[in-house]
Amino acid sequence: MNHPSTYRDKRVVVLGLARSGVSVAKLFHKLGAHVIVNDKKDRESCPEADELTALGISVLCGYHPEDLINDETVLLVKNPGIPYTADPVQQALNKGVEIITEVEAAYWLSPAPIIGITGSNGKTTTTTLIGKLLEASGMKPIVAGNIGLPLCDAVQDVAEDGWIVAELSSFQLKGTSAFRPKVALLLNLAETHLDYHGGMADYVQSKTKLFANQTNEDTAVINWDDPVCREIAQNIPAKKLPFSLYERLETGVYIEPPYVKDHYDNAGSEQSVIRSIVYRGSTEANGEEVVIMPVDDLGIPGRHNAANALAAIAACLSAGAAPELLAEPLTFFKGVEHRLEYVCERSGVKYYNDSKATNATASTMSIRSLKGPIVLVAGGLDRGSDYLELLPVFKELKALVTLGETREKLAHVAELAGLSKVQVVNAEKDAESTLQQAVKQAAALAEPGDIVLLSPACASWDMFASYEQRGSIFKQSAHTL
Ligand code: ADP
Repeated sequence: MNHPSTYRDKRVVVLGLARSGVSVAKLFHKLGAHVIVNDKKDRESCPEADELTALGISVLCGYHPEDLINDETVLLVKNPGIPYTADPVQQALNKGVEIITEVEAAYWLSPAPIIGITGSNGKTTTTTLIGKLLEASGMKPIVAGNIGLPLCDAVQDVAEDGWIVAELSSFQLKGTSAFRPKVALLLNLAETHLDYHGGMADYVQSKTKLFANQTNEDTAVINWDDPVCREIAQNIPAKKLPFSLYERLETGVYIEPPYVKDHYDNAGSEQSVIRSIVYRGSTEANGEEVVIMPVDDLGIPGRHNAANALAAIAACLSAGAAPELLAEPLTFFKGVEHRLEYVCERSGVKYYNDSKATNATASTMSIRSLKGPIVLVAGGLDRGSDYLELLPVFKELKALVTLGETREKLAHVAELAGLSKVQVVNAEKDAESTLQQAVKQAAALAEPGDIVLLSPACASWDMFASYEQRGSIFKQSAHTL
């Protein structure tokens, strides 16, 4: 797209209200565009509409008008979650109207550089952590994007000498054209959201758009342990700052001595090894190793979180943070709610809420992060996967309690894994009672010293409004055992 100010007096359609729709509609309206906002939901379900109509913006709720994308329309700003198969989006495609997401418009208006974070798992944790590290470094960050605050709001609040720290989903990135972050992070790539993208190729292509406009004045922070990320890195024009749990890098952020793949601390053999997080700059910048901190001092548990910390450190160093200011906030950051969150101890059993683990890779990482016998509570929305990816970690469980649409599929994988204690919880009168029942059954299977972990490996929408609601009910159920 062009600079948003060039759309003055032109028809710009914003599809989908919600926070980012409101923010981008207000922004284009302020810049003099003729803005039409449309949402399929009823007017009563769109309380945000009042604020926009008060400003004189047209808001159409309850249906998609047939002439929404008419010949005057020059731009469609689409809510990231709306699929490309939706009627108005198809009309825009047929008419050759440019389709963007709100982050593209925000990019043009940002007075500050952007750190863009994407990946299949770990985005929110890493984004939040980068915000904390930059704050501790006095660098005035604003954390925004997929994490909550719309980018169009953030760019109006950020200081010119500050930073925008933006969590970016594949849905948001698919609708970008000129978006160019100063520092771009690709954390990992796993098979997820394939229903929206129609396949892995489109998903990977959308994620890769993060790097499309970068030049060698920008930095790409890449997970060197992920073969797909590594391959993508070959075609990126930006300077590369890789991170790795398993390799000493010529330039990058890594663990010294490196972890050994498929060897977990639970196995006992590595427990006495003291590891550090190390940064080595390029040879032009003298290439010496700088020790950031011991890995064990990180406030967030698990190897996947160590990877998130490496990525966050790499991003902050690229942005100019001083290495010696990073250790303290990395120690104090205890993670984000619903991500491997410690809940409570009941009868000698510890309860952890990892409701945000909505795919098999995420749950695998979490199961491997906790020390002790685990009774897993899992299951949720069925997106058509066979979940065989979970077979190796299911072999390490003490017991499995499954619920939701995928309950029988997960129980089948557990049987294949040779797990003898598997309980399937069928739907009770409502979702809350079903999860409460699952927690009770998990508690009955656990003994003192064990862990009960909610890490569903599936999205929550078969039963709950959100993963937050699922996690909160789990926590409440554990507290009231
Ligand atoms: P996202 O925003 O990408 O969904 P989160 O930071 O919210 O990521 O973490 C979601 C879940 O993903 C966590 O509960 C954890 O189980 C898992 N996870 C976090 N970081 C990683 C990682 N680097 N690799 C694999 N899984 C991860």
